[in-house]
Amino acid sequence: MIRPNTNYGNLKDSYLFYNIGQKVEAYRKANPEKKIYRMGIGDVSLPLCSAVIQGLHQGVEDQAKRETFHGYMPECGAPFLREAIADHYRQRGVEISPEEIFISGGASDELGDILDLFDRQSAALVPEPAYPAYVDANVMAGRKVYPVATLAENSFLPEPDESLSADLIYLCSPNNPTGAVFDKKRLQKWVDYANQKGAIILFDAAYEAFIEEPDLPRSIFELEGARTCAIEICSLSKTAGFTGTRLGYTVIAKELVRQEFSLNAMWVRNRTTKTNGVSYIIQRGGAAVFTQEGQRQIHENIAVYKQNARVLMQALDQIGIWYCGGKNAPYLWLKCPDNMGSWEFFDLLLNEIQVVGTPGAGFGECGEGYFRFSTFGSPEDTQEAARRLVELLKPKKS
Ligand code: PLP
Repeated sequence: MIRPNTNYGNLKDSYLFYNIGQKVEAYRKANPEKKIYRMGIGDVSLPLCSAVIQGLHQGVEDQAKRETFHGYMPECGAPFLREAIADHYRQRGVEISPEEIFISGGASDELGDILDLFDRQSAALVPEPAYPAYVDANVMAGRKVYPVATLAENSFLPEPDESLSADLIYLCSPNNPTGAVFDKKRLQKWVDYANQKGAIILFDAAYEAFIEEPDLPRSIFELEGARTCAIEICSLSKTAGFTGTRLGYTVIAKELVRQEFSLNAMWVRNRTTKTNGVSYIIQRGGAAVFTQEGQRQIHENIAVYKQNARVLMQALDQIGIWYCGGKNAPYLWLKCPDNMGSWEFFDLLLNEIQVVGTPGAGFGECGEGYFRFSTFGSPEDTQEAARRLVELLKPKKS
């Protein structure tokens, strides 16, 4: 009889957003007349910008004519898109060649698939609170995972230290869920550490477009030595509203070599075996993101989410709740009031004011007692949620 991958038995049996969905559904059934304000799951609410829509239409038109029709696409990505992304990096002072850029169907796919490159005996270091897929993808592959708690005292940014040992290091900046962003000095410490240990950093840059302070790195390749120790995983999901359209890219420099194996060459081999490329139409839409007009339009949308962040930050300031994030990231990470547990706070907000957030405990044990708000909702819902929060939690006059 075939043996299943029994590592699946080691997965924690609940998926955070599934649990939230179940609770919200039960509440909705019991209270059908009440509107629910969803400040939880990190999906976008604004549609694709018009430059992208035009690109997608162009792609469809091209597929309708013999002269412009595309069949299978190159597995590692269309040259026009790889070049557009390389140009985009160049404009920010980072030299990446198109052959170092791999077009993907999104960051989640890559975060799972990329593990094919590493021996199963290699261990993963995951600073927590973290995006749950990092741990789960490694558990499925039977790999050892070392969670490392990050703390408010360190602004939720992990620091390398000699007591840690791991081959794969997950860093996410801006971070989901905490909104923490590495500055160059702190990130350089990880790059130096990884080079010294021969480890590889999987740098999740899904939220880089939300960084507004010019000195903060938007790519790990802004740092000296990153080309020999890092893989950068990017997504157009939050940058340009592609959550349902699906597109991302991954950067593996030619200098990333371990035991004479070029990780770039291995990934080419992997992609040419396991994929047949991303849809031509979607890649046309994606290329529009990297035009001047596309950049202007996506930043107009990002500005709407940033305004949502300001509305929520003002509400939390008014109530006197500690939080971080929200400035260079689309998430706010707050301390639950009155030492409440994070699911307890979730239930309170759902039952009393119909506001749904994400319990911090879902992002690792050290997230207990914290709570995440996303800024991707509509401005109207965000304002109403903020108003209800203040109403419920403002300090009572004695
Ligand atoms: N990485 C992080 C940190 C995320 O928060 C998300 C999605 O929420 C992803 C990756 C997945 O992005 P994608 O939609 O490109 O699969």
